[in-house]
Amino acid sequence: MQDSKQILVTGGAGFIGSHLCEELCNRGHDVLCADNFFTGTRHNIEHLMDRRNFELIRHDVTFPLYVEVDEIYNLACPASPVKYQFDPVQTTKTSVHGAINMLGLAKRIKAKILQASTSEVYGDPIVNPQPESYWGNVNPLGPRACYDEGKRCAETLFFDYYRQHQVRIKVARIFNTYGENMRSDDGRVISNFIVRALQNQPLEIYGDGSQTRSFCYIADLVDALVKLMETDDDVTGPINLGNPTELKIYDMAAKIIEMTGSKSDIVYQPLPQDDPMQRKPDISLARSVLGWEPTTTLEDGLNKTIEYFGNVYAASKQ
Ligand code: NAD
Ligand code: UDP
Repeated sequence: MQDSKQILVTGGAGFIGSHLCEELCNRGHDVLCADNFFTGTRHNIEHLMDRRNFELIRHDVTFPLYVEVDEIYNLACPASPVKYQFDPVQTTKTSVHGAINMLGLAKRIKAKILQASTSEVYGDPIVNPQPESYWGNVNPLGPRACYDEGKRCAETLFFDYYRQHQVRIKVARIFNTYGENMRSDDGRVISNFIVRALQNQPLEIYGDGSQTRSFCYIADLVDALVKLMETDDDVTGPINLGNPTELKIYDMAAKIIEMTGSKSDIVYQPLPQDDPMQRKPDISLARSVLGWEPTTTLEDGLNKTIEYFGNVYAASKQ
């Protein structure tokens, strides 16, 4: 077995964080999950609570944290547009103050630190696919800015702590990811569509559905995050992590209706302000630096996610 490490996962009770905590526990590491439960749930990590190498603390990353660990995965931040726009000031604080607190911790205890950044740093991109060298097209004043600019500022802080204080950093730009442990009321497109389809309720497409996204299954993403953390210290990123299979939102709705055998209709709602029209990662860097690319097909990933929400729905009716 590899050496066991002490690892802090902020936002560990959320969708991605819960899978990451499980993977790190399975690898024999001591995992400390810190979460304020804004969007995360105890349910996501309940199955880890009995493990001797898992510990949970309620903590808001906008406040300093004093712990001793070898590695930090900084995931704390709501990721769904509905959730991060609910309290935009807190979203910016979580990204910016959270980054300062976690980088300060990493600096003091000489830990390696990985930031969960996002494809949102590219805004509504005019370059497709997006390579890491693209500086993006972000509206700094709009309703998505609390998240997009918060994450951009966090990246700036990571690189300044790297240059100024030699903190060992890794910046992952994560593209749309889906799978088990998303909340039914999360508000993101895959969970919305599946939950609606399973109840034979209309699927709501915002705009005409011609906007594109590229969806990565959670197991592939977790694999990439761990691989990135394990790279040599000269690998800082930013590095795109996502699945380059690009799909129109309309086609995703049709696919989910078909795969669930649903009787749902499709209805159209206005496109939210600043909703990006296209998004597809250029993952050349991840391929060459990490030797990684997603291996789960959209059909396999969706099948697992549909089964998960089917169980959640069945349990809610008991
Ligand atoms: P999520 O909302 O399910 O999880 C976020 C977690 O952070 C939750 O458990 C929440 O309670 C916690 N949190 C929020 N604010 C906090 C605070 N101030 N202090 C402590 N904990 C706090 O979202 P997710 O999809 O799991 O995303 C995890 C990370 O990955 C986020 O940083 C997000 O920006 C990034 N990301 C996700 C995606 C995606 O498609 N899922 C894409 C790009 C980037
Ligand atoms: N979307 C939609 N119906 C929904 C939820 C989202 O048509 O019920 C659209 C949304 O407008 C966007 C795309 O799906 O164009 C992806 O939205 P999501 O909130 O999942 O992520 P993001 O916009 O952050 O990529």
